[in-house]
Order: sequence, then C-alpha cells, then structure tokens
Amino acid sequence: MTSQRPFPTDDFSAYYVLSECADYEPLPESETQPHFQGVTGLRNLGNTCYMNAILQCLCSISPLVEYFLSGKYITVLQTDGSDVTTAFASLMTDMWLGDSDCISPEIFLSALGSLYPAFLKKTQQDAQEFLIYVLNELHEALKKYCQRRAYEKRSAQRCVKKVMASETSIITRLFEGQLSYSIMCLKCENCTYKNDVFTVLSLPIPAEYQCSLQDCLQCFFQQDTLTWNNQIRCSFCEIKQEAAVRATISKAPKIVVFHFKRFDIQGTIKRKLRTDIRYPLTNLDLTPYICPVFRKHPKYNLCAVVNHFGDLDGGHYTAFCKNSVTQAWYSFDDTRVSEIPDTSVQTATAYLLFYSCQPFSIPIQNRKS
Ligand SMILES: [Zn+2]
Repeated sequence: MTSQRPFPTDDFSAYYVLSECADYEPLPESETQPHFQGVTGLRNLGNTCYMNAILQCLCSISPLVEYFLSGKYITVLQTDGSDVTTAFASLMTDMWLGDSDCISPEIFLSALGSLYPAFLKKTQQDAQEFLIYVLNELHEALKKYCQRRAYEKRSAQRCVKKVMASETSIITRLFEGQLSYSIMCLKCENCTYKNDVFTVLSLPIPAEYQCSLQDCLQCFFQQDTLTWNNQIRCSFCEIKQEAAVRATISKAPKIVVFHFKRFDIQGTIKRKLRTDIRYPLTNLDLTPYICPVFRKHPKYNLCAVVNHFGDLDGGHYTAFCKNSVTQAWYSFDDTRVSEIPDTSVQTATAYLLFYSCQPFSIPIQNRKS
C-alpha cells in the first residue's frame, strides 16, 4: 500500500505515468520577471521535465534547502553516493541563490545516471519514481547511525515508544512516516500489528470525474478484507485465514507526499484517470488517520504540486511551488517560470502533492564558520 524505496532497475515499465515532451506544444516565452531566491528555471535535457518538476518541488522545501545551503551536509557525507549529493547540493544552491533566470541540471543528472543508467536514456520516466530514487540516494549518502525513538503498536489502545538504533538523515527527518497495520483474523478475531515506513503515500482514486483528496485518503485508510490469494497466516489458528486490515499513521512525517494512482489497469486495458481531485491549499486535517497519541501537528499546508499533462506513454510534467520569500506561488515549466494566483494552484492535472505540517522560514545561507 505504500510507495517505498524500490529496488533500482533498468526497466521502467509502463506501470507509471511517464513523461515525454516531444508532442507537447511549447508555450510562448514569458516576459522577463524580477528574480527572486528560489525562482529559477531549469533546462530540459531531453525528456527531463519529470526531473525538473521534482527538483523544483524539493527546492521549495526550505528546511531541505537550508540544510544544503548551510554546508551541514559536508560533515556527514559518506563516500557512497557522495557525487549525487554534492551535485544536488550545488544545484539547490544555484537554484536558490543563482543570478540567472535559468540553469542546467546536467551535472546532477549525469551523477545520478552513473548509478541508474536508465535516467541517461533521454526517455520517459515517472516523476514519483524519480523522487524516490533521489530521496533514497540522499539518505544513503547522509545517514548517521543513532539511537532513535520508534513507535510500536501493541494493541488497539496501546502504542508504545521504544528506543532503537537506526539510521537517520535529513531525508528521514523530513519525509519519513510510519504506518501501522492492524490485521484481524476473521475466524478467531486474533489481532496482530505490523509497522511499515513510507516516504510517499500512493492514494487510490475512488471516482471517475471528481472527488476530493479526503475521499482518496478515506479510501486508502478504510478497512480492507484480505481473501483468496491474499489470505494471511494466523498465528493463533495456525493456517491461512481471511483477515481484515486497516492502516493508521503511527508517525506523521513533517513533509507528507501524496501520489495519485492515475494509472489504471483493467485486464489488458491501461488508461490514465483524469479525475479532477480537489485538495486544500491550507489546513488539510489528517487527524482521522493518525493514531491519537501522535496527533501533534495534524494540520498540513500545501507547498508544492507536480502536474502531469497528456497520456501515459507521453506527456509533460510541470510544478507549482510556493516560495518562502515572496509567499507567492510560481509555475515551473522547464525554463518557463511565472507567478500564478493561489486560485490557479488547484488543477485537474495534479499528480503529486507536497504538504508541510509547519510553516517554512526563509532558508539562511551558509552558517558555517
Ligand atoms: Zn485466527
């Protein structure tokens, strides 16, 4: 049910919404705008709009940008994956502080491409998959071994904190959440719990034409019955039984990323769901889905959107991001950048949504000595 870090593969199958800019009609160049921090266009390096859209979203997440601007990452940088991380840090710095209206992300792409050659093929890729690869690489390069509090659900009422050794990084501190699944055997009603970390929540779309983000969330978190091949072995009955499964959030991430499953498979027929999903810009309330003891900051505000236009086998990605300096929304379409009114942020093309539970401050540059 969660989008976890997938095993790297060369085969980016058609099971995702892909990007291809060839058939996309370019918009006229926008007029020159005053230049603000973090308002920088990115060159398309051949079907790389999926990458540009994700980079813009990451560059709008102030605590992440500040971490790289401050140079804090240098002290924890591991040898593995350091090229990707160094290239990412310099790209974020250029995008945030850069004096030009537009820069090229080619050094970052070639660093990532040396690990995952599929990204160098100039072919269509899925923005959600790309995001997970980038976050995973950054985490691997920046992780530190430490004692950490984790949460374990023991019963319907009891969620216990326990200290365990684990690896944390700026990525897990910002993006990692935890789901707790309660699994009840429908024969003996014995209940077990299973925890799972997530960085992106992939949400089903329960309607054809229009629904709300809350409808998608309700659908994701509703009780599910596991039957037939999906039966679970009950430790009490000691055989496979039908079970009722329900997920709740046992640790809410600071930045929660929602991915809409716009790709629908019915037998051999694949199609893109074009449902107009309504989502709030402020005060998204996750209270109903978070374990009661962990409802510290249940209200979330939208900070970035990735849009997908066109079909599954081709199409184009853009991003809408809120800038922490101007507090205005901007549309990023590769090199084309323009300010947009809040009312334009809601679109039927939304594919990924980034929400934050705390307001962002303006990233501070270079605090190292
Ligand atoms: Zn049982």
